[in-house]
Amino acid sequence: MVTFRDLVRAFRQLDINSSQPVIVHASLSSLGEVIGGARTLLGALLSVFPSVVMPTFTYKTMITPEVGPPDNAINYGSAKDANRMAEFFQPQMPADRLMGILAETLRQNNQAVRSSHPILSFAGIGAEDIVQSQSIENPLAPIQALVETNGWAILIGVDHTVNTSIHWGERMSGRMAFTRWALTRRGIVECPGFPGCSNGFQAIAPHVEKATHRVQLVTAEIKAVFLPALIETVQGLIAEDPTALLCDRQDCDRCGEVRATVGER
Ligand SMILES: [Zn+2]
Repeated sequence: MVTFRDLVRAFRQLDINSSQPVIVHASLSSLGEVIGGARTLLGALLSVFPSVVMPTFTYKTMITPEVGPPDNAINYGSAKDANRMAEFFQPQMPADRLMGILAETLRQNNQAVRSSHPILSFAGIGAEDIVQSQSIENPLAPIQALVETNGWAILIGVDHTVNTSIHWGERMSGRMAFTRWALTRRGIVECPGFPGCSNGFQAIAPHVEKATHRVQLVTAEIKAVFLPALIETVQGLIAEDPTALLCDRQDCDRCGEVRATVGER
């Protein structure tokens, strides 16, 4: 069984300067049984890192319109039933289950501040400036802010396929992004800058080895990746090969669209 003290010790061993903010992606179950569950994990993170951010995305607000811009990896008019199931974004909306229970636990914390993007919100504690830097036009601005303040991505029992920060490297490389739409109380909001698919992101692992600190805690590996180095690496890989970090699935719409724009399909 994993205790609060075990977690604190492991996070300290990552050897990160406490003035540097962190963005955390975690699989609670990867740690086996944690006494006190997600709250213990969050408490341990906050006791070592004063500034913690997590994505609290809400995909259930998404709407597929009848028509829209071309080359957008979306099948317009195809989702009438799904549109009926869409929910209005509201600040108290739980984070999507895909974000994991830790992100939802952070969102529920009294000290947490959450941004108001209707699909791609972030929540943070001790990170208000980072979270509030987000806008509809620049949904990944919190990642940019983390990079500029020498932040780290912490991956707890998960790999780079959930490492949201890699999308900022794609953006910095000029890789195409998409437009999506969300249901809000003010009507349907167009959300530009929606990132592509992350299923191919694990391919970055060997290239960021030198920028990665690791700790093994019972069944889980905890990794910390230095964000400025991560972003530089993504830019280097895409400059070398414009299809770098895309997934292999033949039917992946977003990776297919990126390949088409760089002349490879
Ligand atoms: Zn893909």
